[in-house]
Amino acid sequence: MEIKEERPLNFIERIIEDDLKAGRVPGNKIVTRFPPEPNGYLHIGHIKAICINFGLAEKYGGTCHLRLDDTNPAKEEQEYIDSIKDCIHWLGFDWGEKTYYASDYYDQLFDIAVRLIKEGKAYVDSLSPEEMKEYRGTLTEPGKNSPDRDRSIEENLDLFMRMKNGEFPEGAYTLRAKIDMASPNINMRDPALYRIKYAEHPRTGKKWCIYPMYDYTHPISDAIEGITHSICTLEFEDHRPAYDWATSIDGIEHTPHQYEFARLNINYLLMSKRKLLYLVNNNYVTGWDDPRMPTIAGIRRRGYSPESMKDFVQRVGVAKVESVVDYSLMEFCVREDLNKRAKRLMAVLDPLRIIIDNYPEGQVEYFDAENNPEDPASGTHKVAFTRELFIEKEDFMEVPVKGYHRLYPGNEIRLKHAYYITAQSIEKDENGNIICVHCTYDPESKGGTTADGRKVKGTSHWVSASHSITAEVRQYDKLFKAENPGAATGNYLDDLNPDSLIVIPEARIEEEAKTAKPGDYLQFIRNGYYMADSRDSSPEHLVFNRTVTLKDSWSKMKQKMGI
Ligand code: ATP
Ligand code: MG
Repeated sequence: MEIKEERPLNFIERIIEDDLKAGRVPGNKIVTRFPPEPNGYLHIGHIKAICINFGLAEKYGGTCHLRLDDTNPAKEEQEYIDSIKDCIHWLGFDWGEKTYYASDYYDQLFDIAVRLIKEGKAYVDSLSPEEMKEYRGTLTEPGKNSPDRDRSIEENLDLFMRMKNGEFPEGAYTLRAKIDMASPNINMRDPALYRIKYAEHPRTGKKWCIYPMYDYTHPISDAIEGITHSICTLEFEDHRPAYDWATSIDGIEHTPHQYEFARLNINYLLMSKRKLLYLVNNNYVTGWDDPRMPTIAGIRRRGYSPESMKDFVQRVGVAKVESVVDYSLMEFCVREDLNKRAKRLMAVLDPLRIIIDNYPEGQVEYFDAENNPEDPASGTHKVAFTRELFIEKEDFMEVPVKGYHRLYPGNEIRLKHAYYITAQSIEKDENGNIICVHCTYDPESKGGTTADGRKVKGTSHWVSASHSITAEVRQYDKLFKAENPGAATGNYLDDLNPDSLIVIPEARIEEEAKTAKPGDYLQFIRNGYYMADSRDSSPEHLVFNRTVTLKDSWSKMKQKMGI
């Protein structure tokens, strides 16, 4: 196989290329799998695992299976399965017909367990979970054999059948592999293969009241599916001997191999389904797809693009060393991509009324506004100009501070796409609040230049007061205000950012915004990147989510660090 490559290969790619060259891959086709447990929504960390597994299959002309690792019936739901599939598709990957469930293999796993018992390689143990823990030993001390370890094969078979038939309560018995209680690797000290659990399974219903354990199920599922490279995160490294034990059970024909990489950690984010579920269940967020959640559903709703996230995990790379990636690198990747594709619109988030006294009342002029200066092919749209406008409050100062180049009495600025205006006078209410600013415009300055070539220093965005729309704008920020949530007090809830959502109920946006649908990438000039909210936005009540600000802290940080 000829492979063209610009970046150096990562360690998994090197292994795969060596295996392919040496003819160690059956049919020369690699097979990977992405094996989520359907007990929550996928998060940004999973994007890395998805890109690795699907990406390798794509690169080397192999296949990648979607395997739902559904061995824990109590915690799993169809809603999660649907969202997992949806998120992988959103990232642009597809598994074709290759959807599998660990529960598809329950019969085979049971038969293999029976065989292990018959061969004297597994036994039914009556130790309680606490006793089992005590017998297991520690990292420095070997374990002890359970008194049940030498139970006869007949008795083991009988008890296992009765476990399966529901004759015992939960916890009464466990089926364990007979490996080695003195092994330096705790995972090899007679690991549990089956436990009793009275739970209805979403797929197998009430058929089973015993369920196979992860270290037994996962490798055998890999073997059954013909997985060649079973790629997982580093915490499974210590489980590799158990993986190899299970795939070398007599009668299992295909031998997959496990490789571990460092999981993706990002500061300011929590990526544990358990903690994310807690935030959802206790209404700290509005749901799994709350735009502040580090879930794929959340960032999608917020306006991140799949391309930017693929670029992000590509930049992070695949290694075997744990690290924490900077949040600003992720935002940098989002901005890089959105800058190239987001449609530019003018939105005034904090409106101040401007009246252009010398502009004819009732007149409407339409200017051409470029959709994206980075992409000339993206064309233009019309923006209406009228006598009354809105600009941002912060673009006007009654008494300017030194270095302020925006609008102030007597100063001239450019209105983006339109005319030069000069502030003439201020109207205030009885409390001294500014109601509006009266200006004049220079009719000669249309399009941003004047006959005398005079220059102005400030340019403001604006919208027409009569030809603009009102929309709710949700200014999202990080959900946690600490780099490592929970590190200071031991409770991550203490680090929730009280300003993670600021709602602007009535922002004014140019009329073109009416056409924006969820999924359309927008930039509100000078304000940030935005997207229409997929749940709450409607033609009657438009809602826009701030995806990311324009400020680029990553570039600044790089400069500071000299990289
Ligand atoms: P969590 O700890 O968040 O609950 P998990 O590991 O239990 O996640 P699974 O559904 O079992 O979640 O994960 C499916 C796959 O995604 C596994 O192969 C797992 O190793 C991988 N994965 C999970 N979290 C990350 C991460 N932060 N970075 C890279 N890969 C990850
Ligand atoms: Mg898991």
